[in-house]
Amino acid sequence: MIIDINPLLRGETAEIGIDAVTVPAAAPDDYELLPGARIKGRIVNSGGYIRLTSSVSVPYRGFCARCLDPVERTLEFEFDRTVVADRSVSDEVIEENSEEYLKTEGGMLDLDEAVSETVYTEFPMILLCSDDCPGLCRFCGKKLGPDGRCDCGGKPETDPRWDALKALFPDE
Ligand SMILES: [Zn+2]
Ligand SMILES: [Zn+2]
Repeated sequence: MIIDINPLLRGETAEIGIDAVTVPAAAPDDYELLPGARIKGRIVNSGGYIRLTSSVSVPYRGFCARCLDPVERTLEFEFDRTVVADRSVSDEVIEENSEEYLKTEGGMLDLDEAVSETVYTEFPMILLCSDDCPGLCRFCGKKLGPDGRCDCGGKPETDPRWDALKALFPDE
């Protein structure tokens, strides 16, 4: 979504509302973006200081790190930036402070591009279907029950060091 903020720059309006579909460029490996990402908010010009305040929601799919089930969630984050529409801040400073500034080209603001970088960093390092997901049985590979047990009856392998110890004390 590209927004024309020229009316704001010319003083024809003091505020532009945003409620639009956004298309983030990419998700990290292991994640897939689902359709329906949106950005909602507004851009306000208060005496030449232009501020974007918005919230972004991005549906995605990933896999539980423990049981490997598909998990669908939505990233929700605030996306607030100072919009620089003139030469008051150098490109270098804008790039170094992309958490604070947004650049416009001829009064056009590319929100997809702006949001993409932030979206990428919002994904969780580890995705779980639930905080107490017990994971998979390490004997048969099936999903464990909520109590962490599996009906396959798989038993933990004995540590060979215990076998050596048992050999020393055959009666026990
Ligand atoms: Zn899980
Ligand atoms: Zn099992």
